[in-house]
Amino acid sequence: MPARTDSFDLGRLRLTSGEGRHLELDVALDALSFGGETYEIEPAVVTAKLDISAMTRGGYALRLRFGASLHGPCMRCLEPALPQVAVDSREVDQPGGGEELSSPYVADEVLDLHAWARDALVLALPAQLLCKEDCAGLCAICGTDLNAAGPEHAHEREPDPRWAKLSELKLD
Ligand SMILES: [Zn+2]
Ligand SMILES: [Zn+2]
Repeated sequence: MPARTDSFDLGRLRLTSGEGRHLELDVALDALSFGGETYEIEPAVVTAKLDISAMTRGGYALRLRFGASLHGPCMRCLEPALPQVAVDSREVDQPGGGEELSSPYVADEVLDLHAWARDALVLALPAQLLCKEDCAGLCAICGTDLNAAGPEHAHEREPDPRWAKLSELKLD
């Protein structure tokens, strides 16, 4: 197991104004709950790229990048799906810069990498988690997996309820 970095002390880098640093850190990712289902993250520990720039007015501009796969049921056909998610997130934290320049993940120059990675992953999720982009899903009438059944899968049209009533009549 690689060493995990859940929080990172930015101040320890002792960057001077305008200076930058590129780091690769191993971050643990928790399983996500999405659409009532639980999705495990693979790998559970990703190597994330972290770019840190010390801004000339103080504080930091940060960029976090990593890729991960979610492991859980396809939202249309319920077969296992492994959607890939690419995360590219930026944060700015400048003491005294107001709310817009205050990152919720930085406190006393310590970056909460674990929380940032989790939230950034959630924000990067597609609207639907699918086994493939054009997943055909399940038949609305019988529940057959239409990916396997193919486009010719069809049902007889339901008989018109008025005719059903007529067929119940007994004409002696
Ligand atoms: Zn599917
Ligand atoms: Zn069907």
